[in-house]
Amino acid sequence: MDIRANLRRIKTEIDASLLKSTNPERKVTVIVVTKNQEIKEINEVLKEGHFILGENRVQELKDKYDQLPMEVDWHLIGHLQRNKVKYIVDKVKLIHSLENYSLAEEISKRMAVEKKPMECLVQVNPAREESKYGLEVHEIMTFIKEVAHLPGLKIKGLMTIAPEVNNPEEVRPIFKEMFHLFNEIKETKIFGVEMEYLSMGMTNDYKIAVEEGSNMVRIGSAIFGPRY
Ligand SMILES: *Cc1c(COP(=O)(O)O)cnc(C)c1O
Repeated sequence: MDIRANLRRIKTEIDASLLKSTNPERKVTVIVVTKNQEIKEINEVLKEGHFILGENRVQELKDKYDQLPMEVDWHLIGHLQRNKVKYIVDKVKLIHSLENYSLAEEISKRMAVEKKPMECLVQVNPAREESKYGLEVHEIMTFIKEVAHLPGLKIKGLMTIAPEVNNPEEVRPIFKEMFHLFNEIKETKIFGVEMEYLSMGMTNDYKIAVEEGSNMVRIGSAIFGPRY
């Protein structure tokens, strides 16, 4: 596995997908997903000059936070339990998995000591999969209006994990729906809400996600190889 070459190739492919999208000028942030990876492997990514990493578990994020340089921007991309919020509020740049009011309240409360709001994305479950977290599309607007007033939290956009399919073309309509929802909320201009990030696209479907308007992709296996 040439991790550094993989990362470069993905960035080139994202540029090609951008050209097929309606807004090719925008910037797409790549979050390198480091779950199950060793520090040695992750260091290859840092050597490539890339410091934006994502973890889906709180414990793993904490461990790696302690072992890797301060320059890393950490993203929490997985499910977050209320009682674990306190461990990460001083470590992460963006939480991708906000999905209920009590979690939002806890994040806001814990950020009081940090003296700045935590930036969060709301997780959407557009295919209404039982196995996945997130709110349904029709619940998103109301939820965002409810949490917008919390002082310790700032809504910055939406995140989704598309269903696993053999042919990624099958999830294109879901990405289109997400892009539409994202714009609808942006145009609603809710006070305190800044719709900046649409986090969608993983190893199997990132090219299509970027073609359909994603500006944040979360990629693991295409960089490090399959997880065992
Ligand atoms: C593991 C994970 C990813 C990356 O998955 P790959 O298919 O390996 O690219 C992205 N997002 C979330 C939430 C994940 O848990």
